[in-house]
Amino acid sequence: MLTALRTSDNGKVLARSSAKADSPFMCPACNREVVLHKGLIRIHHFAHKARVACRLGAGESEDHLLTKLSLFDALRTEPNAQDVELEKRFGNCVGDVFAIISGVPVAIEIQRSALAVREITDRTEHYHRLGIAVLWIGIPNGDLGLSRYSPAAWERWCHAAYFGRVYCWSGGQTLRPVHYAPFALRVEESSWRKNGQVHSSGGYDRRSRRWRKPQPGQPVLVSNGFRRTPRQAWTGGSVHVPECTLFIDRQPNWWDQ
Ligand SMILES: [Zn+2]
Repeated sequence: MLTALRTSDNGKVLARSSAKADSPFMCPACNREVVLHKGLIRIHHFAHKARVACRLGAGESEDHLLTKLSLFDALRTEPNAQDVELEKRFGNCVGDVFAIISGVPVAIEIQRSALAVREITDRTEHYHRLGIAVLWIGIPNGDLGLSRYSPAAWERWCHAAYFGRVYCWSGGQTLRPVHYAPFALRVEESSWRKNGQVHSSGGYDRRSRRWRKPQPGQPVLVSNGFRRTPRQAWTGGSVHVPECTLFIDRQPNWWDQ
């Protein structure tokens, strides 16, 4: 985690602007003691002193910390983004970056490896009850220009929830929406003779269950390219999207319908 509560005055502080001399620090989620790590290689951060069952900091990779900090720094300089806060607590849930963007309260959540679809759904419902729009984003682990890609469970969930878009972070507060189009697998034609008759099969395309064709849209800025979008509950296949409030970009669909 990038922030902690300084025990001496209960003030919320950033790891990069804190010193060991300001210890002790507490976790903003569970109030247990956390230790400041100011090494030369990793981004300055706090970590629980002992192993605890606390979600804050769990499964946070270096990329996750970097993305969170970069979004926060970029949004703080935007005039239409107010109350920009890192790791803001809402009950038992801590959002990665919070901001009021053009009057709309928005929780920005960055996908991390340990986060299951169940938790994404729960958090999305939690924000909806609080009247906060949620923007889930992913950190691309490869090239968006791939001819085929097998989306993870959370990406399939986001794609369904955000009406065919998954947001990939591409630096600062710039995101790249990606649409996953169906990927056609060719079933080759074959024919054979049986009892004097010619039988044949194949010779057509079928939709791959596993593969999709990524189709990136134009890059968009979190501070001015999105709008608050209420969403009805929806279920399709194994994906269930609860009634929720999302932050979706305004770009018209760029893929073939
Ligand atoms: Zn904690």
